Amino acid sequence: MKPMLAHPTRAVSEVMKRFGDNDFACEWKYDGERCQIHKKSDGVVKLYSRNQEDHTPKYPDVISKLPECFKDTVNSFIADAEVVAWDPVAKRILPFQVLTTRARKADSTPAKKRGADGKEIVKAEVHVCVFLFDLLYLNDESLVKRSFRERRELLHQHFHESPGSFTFATSLDTSDTDKIQEFLEEAVKGNCEGLMVKSLDENATYEIAKRSHSWLKLKKDYLEGVGDTFDLVVVGGYKGTGKRVGVYGGYLMACYEPDSETYQVICKIGTGFSDEDLKNHHETLSKHIISKPPPYYAYASEEKPDVWFEPEIVWEVKCADLSISPKAKAAIGIVDPDKGISLRFPRFVRIRDDKTSTDATTADQVAEMYNNQDQVKNAVTNENKDEEDMEY
Ligand code: ATP
Repeated sequence: MKPMLAHPTRAVSEVMKRFGDNDFACEWKYDGERCQIHKKSDGVVKLYSRNQEDHTPKYPDVISKLPECFKDTVNSFIADAEVVAWDPVAKRILPFQVLTTRARKADSTPAKKRGADGKEIVKAEVHVCVFLFDLLYLNDESLVKRSFRERRELLHQHFHESPGSFTFATSLDTSDTDKIQEFLEEAVKGNCEGLMVKSLDENATYEIAKRSHSWLKLKKDYLEGVGDTFDLVVVGGYKGTGKRVGVYGGYLMACYEPDSETYQVICKIGTGFSDEDLKNHHETLSKHIISKPPPYYAYASEEKPDVWFEPEIVWEVKCADLSISPKAKAAIGIVDPDKGISLRFPRFVRIRDDKTSTDATTADQVAEMYNNQDQVKNAVTNENKDEEDMEY
């Protein structure tokens, strides 16, 4: 099942405005990997990524411990969860970067490295803990049309926690803004990205494959900022100079416009990469070089990169803010008839290999984030920033 997605918000006050008098739950927003757990009545268990990739071979430890988390009342189920890297000694969540070092397949042995003394460094497998937050199917019955309050009740009734392996998402039902703010700070201290805020009764069905307003995300890094990161497709590369000779020194990034099925250039990016990132990106992207840009790439002729890539690789990118730019093509025609929207001071965050290029941030989302900025809301035009738009 394609997962339900959330809408970005930038402040607790925005959450209150969106939910009004409706009851809602706040949950910690774990920084790991989405995991949909399927158990059939014949005992077959499968784990699926955000992108419906079969991740069963990646988490044999989760599969073997799964019987610890459900009760005898359960025959078959589909649960929605986040798999997170876990320190079993300190009993705490580890950052997302730790999870990415885990082998993708059960049988792929981690790379062997040697230390200064020539001895092999054996890399311990990363432990994970599964944080369960929703139940979509139980004992041959679909629950997606039930409210989140009912689904959560059934989850808690039929499942139990197994410390360090399966835990219910930490949750708080309140509409007291001070309490939400405190809860957000606790989540951040607990190595989480922020909060997910979910309607409990009103419009609280599970919206398969939809970015719904009944799920809001509130990320610590974007409080009062632009609201979210962007997941952008790498469409071009610029040959590196100086310290970056032999790798790409910068990249051309695009968002996705689903109606016309085009990739619209939004910025150049050259910041946020470690030397190792640059080497790895060069190696990966060299396999996706194409001789000319396909007709479904929208870009300004003066932004032509040295090489073009197939739309295969998606990166998460953050930025300081968004501005209207004559060089950018992102969301062209939505906010301005002839100009697009560009990211200012974009920074590479991470590779999103759980997203395909058509899952990238859409032109509509870019326009929405542009319009949500305070300076735009206050109608202060920022057009003289165009010169900087594509700088890095
Ligand atoms: P999007 O497509 O919305 O940009 P994304 O994959 O980039 O999503 P985020 O923007 O970080 O991810 O926010 C949504 C993700 O947060 C979910 O897909 C899920 O993996 C994760 N998550 C962590 N904790 C929770 C929770 N308690 N409830 C729902 N999702 C959660």
